[in-house]
Amino acid sequence: MNPDTRIIDKTLPAFKSRFTADLPGDPEQTNNRRQVDAYYSFVQPTPVVAPETIAYSREVAALLELPLEFCQSQAFADLMAGNRLLNDMRPFAMCYGGHQFGNWAGQLGDGRAINLGEVQNKQGEHWNAQLKGAGPTPYSRNGDGRAVLRSSVREYLCSEAMHHLGVPTTRALSLVATGEKIVRDMFYDGNPQHEPGAVVCRVAPSFIRFGSFEILASRGRTDLLQQLLDFTISNEFPHLGLPGKKTYLSWFAEVCRTTALMIVEWLRVGFVHGVMNTDNMSVHGITIDYGPYGWIDNFDKEWTPNTTDAAQRRYRFGNQSQIALWNLGQLANAIYPLINEAEPLQQALAVYTASFERGWQAMMTAKLGLSCYRPEDGALIKELELMLQAEETDMTLFYRQLADLDPEKTLQAETPDIEIIQPLISALYNDISASHAARLVTWLRQYAIRRRSDGRNEKECRAGMNRVNPKYVLRNYLAQMAIDKAEAGDYSMIHELEELLRTPYDEQPEMEEYAGLRPDWARTRAGCSMLSCSS
Ligand code: AMP
Ligand code: MG
Repeated sequence: MNPDTRIIDKTLPAFKSRFTADLPGDPEQTNNRRQVDAYYSFVQPTPVVAPETIAYSREVAALLELPLEFCQSQAFADLMAGNRLLNDMRPFAMCYGGHQFGNWAGQLGDGRAINLGEVQNKQGEHWNAQLKGAGPTPYSRNGDGRAVLRSSVREYLCSEAMHHLGVPTTRALSLVATGEKIVRDMFYDGNPQHEPGAVVCRVAPSFIRFGSFEILASRGRTDLLQQLLDFTISNEFPHLGLPGKKTYLSWFAEVCRTTALMIVEWLRVGFVHGVMNTDNMSVHGITIDYGPYGWIDNFDKEWTPNTTDAAQRRYRFGNQSQIALWNLGQLANAIYPLINEAEPLQQALAVYTASFERGWQAMMTAKLGLSCYRPEDGALIKELELMLQAEETDMTLFYRQLADLDPEKTLQAETPDIEIIQPLISALYNDISASHAARLVTWLRQYAIRRRSDGRNEKECRAGMNRVNPKYVLRNYLAQMAIDKAEAGDYSMIHELEELLRTPYDEQPEMEEYAGLRPDWARTRAGCSMLSCSS
């Protein structure tokens, strides 16, 4: 990159990188695809024809202490497309490996992500910024280092929607159109198309993944493994104390705990990641890598949005907690050379199971408006999930409407069945059969007894439920509608959804149509019910 194109602006924060300052990098500085025996490679983004900011997140800009006037400037679009850099930026791509769909895949790395460095804000937090789609790196393998507009819109909107829902996640600062077309064969069926390109700038405390450790272990580089873990603990987990065997174990236990809580949150809001490969697992227990993810419309534990996984359904909604544990097992294997004992690692893995179990129980009782989990609630929840799955029932609508149930009225003998189920019928995708209506009434009566036995004030109970059961989520079809418009040059729905999903627990009556059932046309449409990894 020509140094003249650097942005010099004293109002902008300093960018540095502890990762590249403290850890050795690849001596080679070309983009030739290669195996790299180091933590990262310095790279340059490849400029694009016409950067244009489609959207930026003012909340993330504030984290990075970027002035809003700057975010509205052409210099910002240029920076976020990789056409220009700030004076102190030295971009790099990270090396990592991973297990993909259960198999060791060797070196993967940032094939289309380029790190710009990190800002330390006034609160003392470090935020790393990374461009996704800014051109090839040594890790690009057969890829072009680019990203299409559709997948970038999805990543941008979902990162911020998840944050506002209270789910731990990487953030997204910006979505920039490149003005260039790239070629993708969306369904790998011999139909390549030219599609508009885009770059998302994502932001996280760090981008260290399970796979960052796995690659070093796979190469037998215990020295580098220890150096990376020491770096990670000293910089990202300083509260755990000085690095050493004991701290390695408490670190691993913490990764187990935060990962468990993240999965609980996914299950709360109906999120299916779709590609829980170990390279897509952050050591911070935050959601990372929004590819063929999806949102549960009708409650279905078997559902996965990812067409690549359609046969095995490894990453289906209801399997995510087991997969997280399997992935943590791979991380345990990777750091084993630093521990040399299986037992304490097993104990740490048990932290995952216990944290998940406790977290899941607390989450489910909160969704049901109950103050604490009692052993008998297990059966109530089990029957609820079987019932939701038996007749296509919209998960988000069901829980939201359940808050409006009146336990007293439900339990009065004179209340007709139809009145009891009335608030929930609109959460069903089909007409309700007599037998299902009876099943629903039975369950609602049991639930009403349980809710009443809690002795809570109904108004408070309802308000509490509405704080954990969102009214609005980024339904797959809504994202697809925004993408269809964006591909035609109209970005308005991206902004509309961005605004809507800032306060997903609020009623927002004027936005009611976006809270409804998935429309019929979206049932089988690509992008709405199924997605490929092509992005
Ligand atoms: P993902 O399935 O998105 O986690 O990607 C798996 C690996 O493929 C990562 O190493 C990515 O950086 C790489 N990759 C995905 N798409 C591209 C692309 N268009 N160009 C280069 N590398 C890519
Ligand atoms: Mg990935």
